[in-house]
Amino acid sequence: MNTNGHPPGKILIHAAQIQHRVDAMGWDITHDFLGQELVVLCVLKGALFMTTDLLRHIHMDVKLDFIRASSYGDGQESSGEVKILIEPETDLRGKAVLAVEDIIDTGLSINAVVAYIQARGAASVKVAALLDKPARRKFPFHADYLGFPIEPKFVVGYGLDDADRWRNLPDVWALD
Ligand code: 5GP
Ligand code: MG
Repeated sequence: MNTNGHPPGKILIHAAQIQHRVDAMGWDITHDFLGQELVVLCVLKGALFMTTDLLRHIHMDVKLDFIRASSYGDGQESSGEVKILIEPETDLRGKAVLAVEDIIDTGLSINAVVAYIQARGAASVKVAALLDKPARRKFPFHADYLGFPIEPKFVVGYGLDDADRWRNLPDVWALD
């Protein structure tokens, strides 16, 4: 029971589908990075749920750190400018870095995050994204690991918010 009701919309991806897909992504990542010193960078706040689930399926020792980038105010459209609000503490020089992002939309935010990680001297940067709206892309970008491509609808749940609401829903919902 959720005493806060549910958002105006429909479930787009059920929790069980998410778990199944994230499990498979974790195994792919394990296979690709085995033997390397990997730093997993959770892109706050949206990728928090994805990151903790993914880490349970990465079967090797990793370092965990956080980065926060913001291009959104409280609206549903990007403001066009990306600020790095929280920087990782880990020394990224010479490291293999996997950034975990909730959703790729225009591509603006993730391009800025990748550029930031490269500027910190990482040896390699890969991106795992839960969701992708390829139809909305303005800045070219391909995720190395992708959960689900989706239609260009605004989604919430499993970490994703609408003005800081609905993050803790276990399913991903598409708003009306
Ligand atoms: P981009 O910079 O690619 O346009 O936007 C990416 C960021 O905008 C994501 O990291 C996410 O924070 C936010 N965003 C984009 N689309 C959605 C969406 O459908 N729902 C939510 N909750 N956030 C979104
Ligand atoms: Mg985000």
